[in-house]
Amino acid sequence: MITKDKVVQFHYTLSTADGVQIEDSRKGEPMAYLHGHGGIIPGLEKALEGHGAGDHVDATVSPEDGYGERREGMQQRVSAKYLKHAGKLRPGMTVNVNTDDGPRTVTVIKVGLKTVDVDGNHPLAGQTLQFAIDIVDVRDATEDEVSHGHAHGPGGHHH
Ligand code: ZN
Repeated sequence: MITKDKVVQFHYTLSTADGVQIEDSRKGEPMAYLHGHGGIIPGLEKALEGHGAGDHVDATVSPEDGYGERREGMQQRVSAKYLKHAGKLRPGMTVNVNTDDGPRTVTVIKVGLKTVDVDGNHPLAGQTLQFAIDIVDVRDATEDEVSHGHAHGPGGHHH
């Protein structure tokens, strides 16, 4: 059963409130996380708590339990050379930018010759998210995993 300090492996599809599918983990390995350590969004941890391997869980997650509300004033014009991206930038893409607070994921709004307008909101901010989850495996975490605060092995962290 999923409680604090269990390592959980699961497959999921993620769709918007109007049913547009955004992600499907079944194209690869199941995702793994350490329960109770903030490794996944709060709404998902709440929905999975108490379930076990083999369970199917449908969860609707509001922005406050997901990626937060969209915030105004998060748009910025940055020099294109600071954006880490291979290939041509297009509006709607997410790219990583190095900031004083470390790397951040931003969404490209407009591409100029030397500058790019980006939005610092998470691409899924402000959205109600629908998850369809199949729990693949639940096991006790190792001491290392608990002290690191994340899952190791398939679908988790590799050091
Ligand atoms: Zn670790």
